[in-house]
Amino acid sequence: MTQTISVSCKLQVPVELRQEIDRTLQGFADACNQILEVAKRENCRNATKLHHLTYYTVKLTTGLKANHVCQAIRRVVGNLKAVKQVHKFRPTSISLDARVFTYRESDQHVGITLMSKRVWLPCKIGNYQLALLRGQIPTSATLVKRRSGDYYIQVAVELDTPPTGKTPKVIGVDLGRRDIATTSTHKAWNGSQLQATRDRYSRVRASLQSKRTRGSKRLLKRLSGKEARFQTNINHSISRQLVNEAKTIGATLAFEDLSDIRKSLNTQPRNKTERRRTNNWAFYQLRMFVTYKAVLAGVPVVFVPPAYTSQTCSRCHHVHPEQGRSYRNGKVFKCGHCGLEADADSNAANNIATLGAVVNQPESSVMSCVLEGQLSLFCSTFNQG
Ligand SMILES: [Zn+2]
Repeated sequence: MTQTISVSCKLQVPVELRQEIDRTLQGFADACNQILEVAKRENCRNATKLHHLTYYTVKLTTGLKANHVCQAIRRVVGNLKAVKQVHKFRPTSISLDARVFTYRESDQHVGITLMSKRVWLPCKIGNYQLALLRGQIPTSATLVKRRSGDYYIQVAVELDTPPTGKTPKVIGVDLGRRDIATTSTHKAWNGSQLQATRDRYSRVRASLQSKRTRGSKRLLKRLSGKEARFQTNINHSISRQLVNEAKTIGATLAFEDLSDIRKSLNTQPRNKTERRRTNNWAFYQLRMFVTYKAVLAGVPVVFVPPAYTSQTCSRCHHVHPEQGRSYRNGKVFKCGHCGLEADADSNAANNIATLGAVVNQPESSVMSCVLEGQLSLFCSTFNQG
């Protein structure tokens, strides 16, 4: 199995070349916008047809190389398929294929064809990137100009992933609101600081939205980027720690399958703050980060159905009825059957781990010996999923 990842390296661009790169970026954006216009007018989403419709005109008017134009067509078609409404392309990046991009491993230079000539630029590259690029002959990349004015090359690299194999150990991970993540190995990432920051952003956003001036719009945009980067950084850190722990002890990671959670949670009468917390893309991103890091590390990941994970006792497996929430007292889960008192999130994480073991090793008897009473409910739900 292989996994494609993008390796980002900073380029050292001499001052005299900046103008030429910017000219190429502008040309590429112009080309994309021209192609987009035609695609919308002709209602065409097909790359080959679009090529016939636009290639010569675009090449002539922008002065780009042939492969740049082909990449521009691909970019437009890709964006149209991915996003419903594409408005305008800005001169911030250009897609490159093997004809206009080369990586030279011996001295870590990249060759890039610009509008007028081909240039070789040194990469500022760390050990992490070096290891990923070792022995690779990458065939596609994206040249990006960041807001800081620095240039980066994002190289697409195909990596062979180690076989995951089945492991008996399972770490259950409960994603919650009080704590971002809690594991069945008693680790928790506290969410209060994150939530406080998010709430603060939310308040500032609300006050800015009520003003509706040009300045406030600009500030809003900057703010949303800042909040997203803050969250992304935290998710990278948590996912890395989860994958490292699983790798070290040779365990599988188990998560709840939350793909339907938005629907089900929004049907319940809840206040605005709670809804905003649940509908956040952060959990989705965290699971995505874990998944790709796990694949690269050879750590298996399984998803289990979320039903009953929080209302089941992780010791006696008694399932508590939802009504009245008799099993829950604030942060504490209290079993009415065997008397277990445990942190509610840890209890859920343990249940996820137990279910994960069933998913991971259906032939083993982990579940059959703990099966008892209402837990069959658990399994029938699981079998449907
Ligand atoms: Zn119990």
